[in-house]
Amino acid sequence: MNTIIKKDFPFFNNNDIVYLDSAATSQKPQIVLDKMQEYYTQYCANTHRGEHELGDKATTEFENSRDYIAKFIGANTDELVFTKGTTEAINFVASSFVKSRFTKVFLSELEHHSNIVPWQLQGLEIVVLPLDKDLNINLEEYEKLLRLNPKSFVSITHVSNSFGIINPIKKLINIAHKYECLILIDGAQALAHLRIDVKDLDADFYAVSAHKAYGPTGIGALYGKYALLESMSPYQGGGSMITEVSFKKSSYLKPPLRFEAGTQAIAEVIGFKAALKYLFTLKQTQKEEDILLKYAKEKLQGLSRIQLYTQAENVLGNISFNIKGVHHNDIGILLSKQSIMLRTGHHCAMPIMKKLGIKGTIRLSFALYNTKEDINKTIQAIQKAIHLLTKNKGDKSASK
Ligand code: PMP
Repeated sequence: MNTIIKKDFPFFNNNDIVYLDSAATSQKPQIVLDKMQEYYTQYCANTHRGEHELGDKATTEFENSRDYIAKFIGANTDELVFTKGTTEAINFVASSFVKSRFTKVFLSELEHHSNIVPWQLQGLEIVVLPLDKDLNINLEEYEKLLRLNPKSFVSITHVSNSFGIINPIKKLINIAHKYECLILIDGAQALAHLRIDVKDLDADFYAVSAHKAYGPTGIGALYGKYALLESMSPYQGGGSMITEVSFKKSSYLKPPLRFEAGTQAIAEVIGFKAALKYLFTLKQTQKEEDILLKYAKEKLQGLSRIQLYTQAENVLGNISFNIKGVHHNDIGILLSKQSIMLRTGHHCAMPIMKKLGIKGTIRLSFALYNTKEDINKTIQAIQKAIHLLTKNKGDKSASK
């Protein structure tokens, strides 16, 4: 967590912005931008088609990236399907796998809309797994529900984007398998912060987005156990996913290419690999991120009107709160005016906000380029904003 890392990110070169919205999207290091530019300037061509040298080079770089990204999360190369991101990965599983095999899906109360709406679109009934007062999944209830509903489909986030809770996914996966259920893990908020090994976890599906882990937007991946992918029909049809096409009938390639119709986001795939390589060189310093999170929490707890929503220790990446008597959006606007960028609102997780009886929160979310200095500036700016917003009010109103 230091200014040395900040230097790797051109975004911070010419401004003194405090960026605390990395859970929405992270800034990108120069090395990622360079790799993408290298593709566009040196070997820009389409992949998996044509016979010319440039096409070969582009295909090799694309497939090398798949190999690296797969290994990075402990998967085999042919088990990694490129998607636009976590959202598309979940929509893909919902439409190509779950819809034809299940009638309902089990989700936690903490899910992002990307892990709610795709199931609804496919007409699946949603069964909600309850949380305890610190927003952890109640494991006894979870097991009880799956015992009563064996052979079901479960989909749960690894790390919550709205409250930073790290779910005990290895346990959740074990319990799911005990009752012959299949399980998808939404890893959107985990990739940048945790070592992921899909084989060790024994996840059936695992979805990620590059842009939250220092990579480009518009690219992500779905890991699926090969046998499951092999049993799935194509998500979309088009070029590069077929073996034979006639007007009567078409046949398809094996996974993962079966699921990658049309021209892919080639530069983004190459940038995705560069981002993970960069992350690897930093050794994913979760310990340093933890120190920053604890520091921020301590400082926030010193504010007199602070309202936090969990005291759980198993948190990472972000911290959500309200200031009693002040609307979260007003704080966001005033902080933005002081060059502090953070997110306010429901964070695409309306159900958990409703459960807590609030419309939204103020969220600080961290990446490796954040520093204690960033936190200090933010706390000062929040104090200034509170002062401005409450100077003509009493101290009585509650933030709801
Ligand atoms: N799940 C979680 C937990 C997220 O935080 C996000 C992004 N905010 C998504 C899914 C969706 O990711 P994307 O927008 O990259 O598809």
